[in-house]
Amino acid sequence: MGGQLDVQPRPDIPLLNPMGDFEERAADWLPFAEALTRLVEAAVPLPPEEVPLSEARGRALAEAVRSAVTLPRHPNSAMDGYAIQSDDVEGADAHRPRELKVVGRSSPGRPWNGTLETGQAVRIMTGGPIPTGADGVVRVEDTDREEVAMGRVRVLNDRDRGRHIRPLGEDIREGEVALPAGHGISSGSVALLAGVGRTRVPVHRRARVAILSTGDELVDPATFPHECGDAAIPDSNTPALVAGLDALGCRPHSLGTVPDQEAALEQAIRSGLTSDVLITVGGASMGDADLVKRVLDGLGFELDFWRIRARPGTPFGFGFLPREGDRPQPVLGLPGNPVSAFVTFQLLVRPFILRLMGHSQVSRPTVEARMGTSVTSKGGFRQFIRVTLSGSAGEGWTASPTGPQGSGLVSSIGRADGLAVIPESKETLAPDDPVQVILLGDGPGWPGEPCLAP
Ligand code: AMP
Ligand code: MG
Repeated sequence: MGGQLDVQPRPDIPLLNPMGDFEERAADWLPFAEALTRLVEAAVPLPPEEVPLSEARGRALAEAVRSAVTLPRHPNSAMDGYAIQSDDVEGADAHRPRELKVVGRSSPGRPWNGTLETGQAVRIMTGGPIPTGADGVVRVEDTDREEVAMGRVRVLNDRDRGRHIRPLGEDIREGEVALPAGHGISSGSVALLAGVGRTRVPVHRRARVAILSTGDELVDPATFPHECGDAAIPDSNTPALVAGLDALGCRPHSLGTVPDQEAALEQAIRSGLTSDVLITVGGASMGDADLVKRVLDGLGFELDFWRIRARPGTPFGFGFLPREGDRPQPVLGLPGNPVSAFVTFQLLVRPFILRLMGHSQVSRPTVEARMGTSVTSKGGFRQFIRVTLSGSAGEGWTASPTGPQGSGLVSSIGRADGLAVIPESKETLAPDDPVQVILLGDGPGWPGEPCLAP
């Protein structure tokens, strides 16, 4: 099983021109939503493996996890106080306290094993098992705390009759599904899984993702600017993609920054064939140096679609490379412009890879906001404006463009809180118009993280 990728080309999607040159094919110009659907449907989860709970955060469950226990295991107290019989304290107040005999003590892990009789109380701590015979817990503040006479307690209020008992099984019952298959494991999920007795969990394997950046002008940021000419620019897409993939819990692997040469590209692509997925970035448009499609074609690439009605990100492509003795390798071709690469990664590659790793939830959270300034779009395309958010959940969010929105401008993504969506049906949004913003956070303390509390 291991190493196999259960992703198949879709037989219902005809190859546009399987015999011809890639660049001669009609582009699909898929609507954004259809491209996303096709990607997510093509991603069949990787095989399961079992991992210790301590390594499970961020992974997706490969099977539903059922509880090995009923929780709470005993009715227990929600308060520090005295377990009592409610009839004994009926009508109690400061003028007419009810005095009870304290016959024992119950704390978590140290129950009192007797049976409570009328006229008796058991000192009880939060989580302490409720003794047989008790039907309520009087909170300690409503008593004299046994100060007058040790071994006796005066109850000064009867408001807690029948209260503060956490019932057996209130949390979860033995055999009940604690988390369904496909659920992403958060730190909260770890609490639940540990609570129901799991030390190991079945999760989908992490995806091995190869990244190929191409462009004669690109150099490794580590060598920039000292070891290269004026025409060079640092390869910012590879580190950004490695970081984005890392945040998804994948195992990213750079195939290097490859020049626009067919032989070098072919060699790099071949070296990435053992990965679960190949991401190419750059060289995917219509320019003379855009060789990626041609090289892929030479390796028998089966195109699913190329070019989408989204901005930035139009020249996005998706298809499969055949592999000997293995399933075809999914290839996601990203435009080289850093903003286009970033946006298509976040909105198309991310859901594909999350589904590959078994996650049922693959979309980012969104908030409703109002535009701070007017923005324009080319009708018929879904436009994603990089924005910062100000305001609050209570008073409402305002989305303000990060600055110039050119698809080569890394400053527009470096400080963005989210992507404001201009739908295909609109060519402009005016100040104060409502807008949906896709939140971009992928870790603790991301810049400008809006506080979602009111
Ligand atoms: P391409 O998609 O190869 O036509 O590239 C479009 C633009 O993005 C060009 O200006 C490239 O220099 C730039 N670009 C391509 N790849 C990268 C990269 N890895 N890092 C930074 N800029 C890039
Ligand atoms: Mg290029």
